[in-house]
Amino acid sequence: MASLSRSDIIKILKSSDPDIFNELLNTADRTRQEYCGDKVYLRGLIEFSSYCECNCLYCGLRKNNQGLKRYHLSNEEIIALAMQAFKLGYQSICLQSGETKKAENLDFLVKITEKIKDLSQKADSTGLGLGITLCIGELNYQEYKRLWDAGAHRYLLRIESSDPVLFRKIHPPSQSYEKRLECLHALKDIGFQLGTGVMIGLPGQTAENLCSDLEFFQHENIDMLGMGPYIPHHAAPLSRSKDKQNIDPYTAALKMIALSRLLMPDINIVNSTALQSINPEGLNMGLRAGANIVMPVLTPKDIRSDYYLYEKKKHQSPISLIREIQNAGFTPGLWEWGDPIHYFKKNKLSS
Ligand code: SAH
Ligand code: SF4
Repeated sequence: MASLSRSDIIKILKSSDPDIFNELLNTADRTRQEYCGDKVYLRGLIEFSSYCECNCLYCGLRKNNQGLKRYHLSNEEIIALAMQAFKLGYQSICLQSGETKKAENLDFLVKITEKIKDLSQKADSTGLGLGITLCIGELNYQEYKRLWDAGAHRYLLRIESSDPVLFRKIHPPSQSYEKRLECLHALKDIGFQLGTGVMIGLPGQTAENLCSDLEFFQHENIDMLGMGPYIPHHAAPLSRSKDKQNIDPYTAALKMIALSRLLMPDINIVNSTALQSINPEGLNMGLRAGANIVMPVLTPKDIRSDYYLYEKKKHQSPISLIREIQNAGFTPGLWEWGDPIHYFKKNKLSS
């Protein structure tokens, strides 16, 4: 299966044959089992700020959306949530926010990262503490390096679409494809476990585009993948695009997870909240398709709906999410980092 050609992949992506779909998911399921076992690792997601200086055309957090209530959690609140994740045995958190170029915000995050590392290591009999993933957008090399030195070791920055033409259509001119690539390369160079991904079902996106996305992930030698369906947001201009949505985002997202598992068997693949939001079977099916990471949202309930990236975002309690993982026949990977095997192999390190 790993020798799938470009035309095989496009054929699978375009096919509406349920037998092809089922065979794809079953093969991916076996591959995940062989390389990663049945464990699903948890990343407690802390959406710590909804302020954003960017204007991505698809996103509800975009700066020009004045209908959104903005919040920024305090130092103490973020640390308390991180330690809650630690007590629940998640062993990893993901700090996510809108993008900001303000120096004081970076200083704030560097301090928080150091503090969370320190507190969780002291509370952990193994001394390991929490693994910290960041998902805070584009910064420069020195800024990424400061976050790495502070103790973060994974970074998620989606390319959104690997096709420069489509990338340009969904971003304002101030955001460039080249800059995004430069950021991904800086992160890799520093040593971060590198995660990227795309949205699936964007207006104008084709099966050929998605196939190129898979080639892009392989070419960039990524360690982690976080893809999800595109879900329109009424306050984001892309929701009024005249370009046709050629692709059914739900089945295409499942196929993309499965194809990624076949092509990159030892990376970590996220089962996105967006996938769980567009279909009640999203979690179950995404895991079956080969995903092995889930990100329970720890953002406080009273502000969770203000982190409004897209419509109908699913809010599920971490406890019911874990129950659902178990009901789907998987084992929540508690008390371990669950780093991607690929990272250690490519750097010839022992995990
Ligand atoms: N500001 C950071 C992190 C928050 S946004 C960043 O941009 O990297 C995290 C992800 O949300 C983005 O990468 C994007 O792929 C996803 N997203 C935003 N709007 C979306 C939408 N309408 N549908 C699906 N995913 C969306
Ligand atoms: Fe901001 Fe990220 Fe949304 Fe773009 S995708 S507007 S950077 S929060």
